[in-house]
Amino acid sequence: MSKVVIFLYNEEFQEYEFSSAHPLKPIRLKLTYELLRDYGVFGSTQVKVMPGRLATDEELMLVHAPEYINTVKKISETGNEPSYAYAFGIGPGDNPAFKGMHEASSLIAGCSIVAVDEVMNEKAEHAVNISGGLHHALRDKASGFCIYNDPAIAIAHAAKKYGARVAYIDIDVHHGDGVQWAFYDRADILTVSLHESGRFLFPGTGFIDEVGTGKGEGFSVNVPLEPGTYDDLYLSAFNSIVPPILRAFKPDLIVSQNGCDTHYTDPLAGLSLTTNAYEKLYGAVHNLAHEICGGRLVALGGGGYQAYQVVPRAWSLLSADLANIDLGNSVPESWQELCSEKAHTKCPDSLRDGEIVPRTFAESIEDRTAHIIASVKQKVFPYYDLSTT
Ligand SMILES: [Zn+2]
Ligand SMILES: [Zn+2]
Repeated sequence: MSKVVIFLYNEEFQEYEFSSAHPLKPIRLKLTYELLRDYGVFGSTQVKVMPGRLATDEELMLVHAPEYINTVKKISETGNEPSYAYAFGIGPGDNPAFKGMHEASSLIAGCSIVAVDEVMNEKAEHAVNISGGLHHALRDKASGFCIYNDPAIAIAHAAKKYGARVAYIDIDVHHGDGVQWAFYDRADILTVSLHESGRFLFPGTGFIDEVGTGKGEGFSVNVPLEPGTYDDLYLSAFNSIVPPILRAFKPDLIVSQNGCDTHYTDPLAGLSLTTNAYEKLYGAVHNLAHEICGGRLVALGGGGYQAYQVVPRAWSLLSADLANIDLGNSVPESWQELCSEKAHTKCPDSLRDGEIVPRTFAESIEDRTAHIIASVKQKVFPYYDLSTT
């Protein structure tokens, strides 16, 4: 097997922009690419940059309803919003129409499919699509800044084309609802989501008792965390729950969603993580892939609303970890200049957050996190014959 890591990248990622004022900023992808490039990562033998392609209608239909795809296509031609668009989740608010939205969204889905193909055909050990991770899109509806659900499409493709058992690990601050519902009744796809509880945050789902239905019972795992959850607590939840379940499930492929809107400075959510936790999480998923499924890992992006200050650093750490490259801690000056110019404010000079105190210490958060971990284990571990003590 080739040891190479494929990094999917197209300049056209910049076209996935709802509006210039929208919080999901495509510049985060360009700045991540530029940061890795300025570090010299793309000149290394371990990493290969590769353009993706548009997903076909047939591929989109692995997850989405034909009438929804046709509606997105129609709206995409002009960027105008007909009155019926709102029934498909497109309109003022989270998901406004924009010209070219079908192509921009299909490219992201196509990149996630290519990532799966490269890994399953053993052209690469790992593949990264930082434009991917649009985990909220539903079968016939846009939701939460997501038009087409590229993780679900890529997973369905892996199951259909390769007969793969797939484990999906979602560490975005929001519940990975669209992916969960797409496979809720299936036993060959495990979805695991750690997120800020739906009691406090969009999309309002992802509770412990959402375990799947029918044959899929036990194959949907949710860890809803309290606002203010910080690095050590989050890592404790992850390490107590994810590795044992993955080892028991024995996937052929892991697909990870690496939203970094869990960051303590993120404006849209309330968890309190730093890049120190991210590095440990990326390393943990990476190690699990080598331990249990021959290294086969597709890593996607996701949310992250500090487009200049956080996302490029987080996903550079992710990519470097997969390629076993040590980037050091000082950010190249060329990138700082570029980023500061785009951001109209100073961008970070360190790759890592350093020893900082998270913004909130909610009262008795330690006890409440321990209780959540125990409750998840009690609910889910019996399906895997794992001890809850
Ligand atoms: Zn998110
Ligand atoms: Zn590796």
